[in-house]
Amino acid sequence: MRHMAKYDFDMFTIGAGSGGVASSRRAGSYGARVGICEESRVGGTCVIRGCVPKKLLVYGAQFADAFADSVGFGWEPHMPKFDWRTLIANKDVEIDRLNGIYKKLLADSKVALFESHGRLIDPHTVELGGGKRVTAETILIATGAHPVVPDVPGVEHAITSNEAFHLEALPRRIVIVGGGYIAVEFAGIFATLGAEVTLIIRGDDLLRGFDDDIRVALALEMRARGITIHPRCHVTAIERTRAGLAIATSQGEAISADQIMYATGRRPNTRELGLAEIGVRLDEKGAVAVDEWSRTAVPNIYAIGDVTDRLNLTPVAIAEGRALAETLFNDNPMNVDHETVPTAVFSQPPVGTVGLTERAARARHGAVDVYRTRFKPMKNILAGRDERTMMKLVVDRASDRVLGCHMVGADAPEIIQGLAIALKCGATKRQFDRTIGIHPSAAEEFVTMREKAPEPVATAAD
Ligand code: NDP
Repeated sequence: MRHMAKYDFDMFTIGAGSGGVASSRRAGSYGARVGICEESRVGGTCVIRGCVPKKLLVYGAQFADAFADSVGFGWEPHMPKFDWRTLIANKDVEIDRLNGIYKKLLADSKVALFESHGRLIDPHTVELGGGKRVTAETILIATGAHPVVPDVPGVEHAITSNEAFHLEALPRRIVIVGGGYIAVEFAGIFATLGAEVTLIIRGDDLLRGFDDDIRVALALEMRARGITIHPRCHVTAIERTRAGLAIATSQGEAISADQIMYATGRRPNTRELGLAEIGVRLDEKGAVAVDEWSRTAVPNIYAIGDVTDRLNLTPVAIAEGRALAETLFNDNPMNVDHETVPTAVFSQPPVGTVGLTERAARARHGAVDVYRTRFKPMKNILAGRDERTMMKLVVDRASDRVLGCHMVGADAPEIIQGLAIALKCGATKRQFDRTIGIHPSAAEEFVTMREKAPEPVATAAD
């Protein structure tokens, strides 16, 4: 029936980021006729101005640590000169390459690409640039989100992560506002590369929603790296002076900096899409409201990824997109379980986490046991680096099931990915204990923690 061409396409996707591309390609692989439009660059936030370039900058920054640490291992003290422009230029080359690959993947999957903004005219019609219209049986909205910046006098002098990827020079002094993923990741990049970094957070602690021990441990290590953190603080005005930026705070301080970056959250891209006009409902935060099948209030229109503001992570958007394609075009109804999703923050040191925080576990399960360790990783001994790793397990006392694994320290994202499988399988603490460790590694601590922690030592408040 689908192929009787009542419409130009079986599915038309607005937004060629990770989620939109994954869904369209999967649908195409099942023989669906798929079109996709993108007003910016194919690849979306993750590939063009998010995860990928960020990780490249993180890798670039980490060499500074490696050079410094090498001395204790017998290398001559020598800090090679760093060139920001080279890093940015090489990063851009890689992003161009990935952009090309994404386009090729779409073409190989026979997905028709329209490099244009798309706007819904009715539930089956999308208007593209130049007045061109296409029709589709199913519409998928995968338009992502954009950074939001509060209204502060002089905020036009500020940058967001979008611009941070294209700075002409490494700022000598930078103020970063916000304490979420993006703020702490960029704080780590800039500080490790030698910039003077001041983080201004409105709450008491970084990374709201993460386990309190992570929040405490990360702040400790970031401060030890020379990052200044101002809690319970707001920027009240920004002025450009001859000496740079003059930043006034609610604590009465005047901070001088070369750049100020806002990482104060992101808002779904729902404007200029014609959504309200055709009955697609937005929630109170402005995200497209969907059910567990990613279906909007208009039955043939679906939405996935950051525009729905469920769990704003690339692999989640990809999973939502593929599940939709399976459901619609492979007679294989699938939806995405948004529980027990591992996540990492590529701060210095990085954070990895999966499952419930101790606070959430206590609220949901009552009695829990906590196992916690904090140690100096082997490499840091000869390196003369004081940085410590923190690991934590939260265990349901009644069932012995491990409810949460949390880590701050080198390789945390790599380690937690494996543990996420164990949690997804419902592993118990006893099964963790029966697993043989890999020695010497930091990861082995996760299977050798025996001592229950006394009552919580963390003091971070929500
Ligand atoms: P987050 O929502 O993670 O953090 C926003 C931060 O800004 C919070 O600290 C928040 O404070 C603060 N904030 C919000 N509004 C204001 C304001 N008006 N004034 C001062 N501070 C404010 O957003 P990000 O922009 O860092 O990242 C967006 C999302 O993108 C993340 O939540 C994550 O889902 C995703 N992401 C994932 C990454 C990864 O997987 N590694 C990397 C980067 C982004 P408070 O806590 O008090 O609300």
